[in-house]
Amino acid sequence: MENTQSKHSNDIRLVIVSPCYNEEMQIAESSAKLNGVVDSLIAKGKISSDSIILFVNDGSTDHTWDEIVKAHQSSSRVCGLNMATNVGHQSAIMAGMMTARSLADAVITIDSDLQDDTNAIESMVDKYRDGANVVYGVKKDRKADPWHKRKTASLFYHVQEFLGVKTIKNHADFRLLSRRALDTLASYPERNIFLRGMIPLMGYDAVTVDDTLSPRKTGESKYTLGRQIHLAIDGITSFTTKPLEHIFIWGVAMLGIAFLMFVNVVVAMIIGRAIAGWASIMLSIWFIGAILTMGVGLIGIYIGKMYLEIKQRPMYRISESIGL
Ligand code: UDP
Ligand code: MG
Repeated sequence: MENTQSKHSNDIRLVIVSPCYNEEMQIAESSAKLNGVVDSLIAKGKISSDSIILFVNDGSTDHTWDEIVKAHQSSSRVCGLNMATNVGHQSAIMAGMMTARSLADAVITIDSDLQDDTNAIESMVDKYRDGANVVYGVKKDRKADPWHKRKTASLFYHVQEFLGVKTIKNHADFRLLSRRALDTLASYPERNIFLRGMIPLMGYDAVTVDDTLSPRKTGESKYTLGRQIHLAIDGITSFTTKPLEHIFIWGVAMLGIAFLMFVNVVVAMIIGRAIAGWASIMLSIWFIGAILTMGVGLIGIYIGKMYLEIKQRPMYRISESIGL
């Protein structure tokens, strides 16, 4: 393991970050449940007694914030962060994590509908105590997800894999990050964030715990089809410029076809089977098509490089050194 946490376990301050969008019916129950988990971890001496639960209200249009304030009044361990507008699940989690960064030794993010298995929180803390910087909750089965969501998710993983994007299969945004990992994450200044892609990119050992998804208790999924498509597009285009290179490769392939067509046309003319005008049209279509496609692809390759430069991602992360 890369980094052995030097703190005593009862010195570990845990912050549980939980994004909420229109979850007014869920907050009371979720805060009670998370409080129970934190209580038991404190009782077992695994985390410190100043550990907190941080709800991030992502510009809800219902009474979610009032519910968070109420939860705080009944337990000061429950805290809240109110976003001025709806920034979306990923950015809301980021806001919570970056706020918690200066307060916590470790942060666990979990959706406020608590579809994830809260028992896995203890396993995550255990793995952190064993030295892990990143612990992913991995869904053992997705039975609670509707059929179409399982199928689209699996298609999405395949496309990502094909294009070379590193992700953890069946992991959503239920995970633990150490302060060290949060510091690394903070050095990625990009805005179109897809945490499931960014975190594996940081290069910490992929430690996982089992997660079992249960059905949502109140309200309905905030991930409409449109939002899911948007997330999937971000999950690919924020991590790879390969689709742009593919255009150029298609152009080269078309040039190959144009040469075959040239041979075909010459042969047809020699054996006298060419219709007048056919040869010139066929050759122009393939040659012009190939040249245009290659040109677009070439411009795409340059745009891709500009895109990567603009992101200003850190060039590397040094995991260890010795003798310096
Ligand atoms: N959420 C958010 N901002 C949004 C949409 C969703 O903070 O714009 C929160 C939501 O309250 C929930 C989590 O993100 O806690 C995941 O959303 P949801 O449960 O609706 O997605 P699903 O589990 O159906 O994929
Ligand atoms: Mg959910």
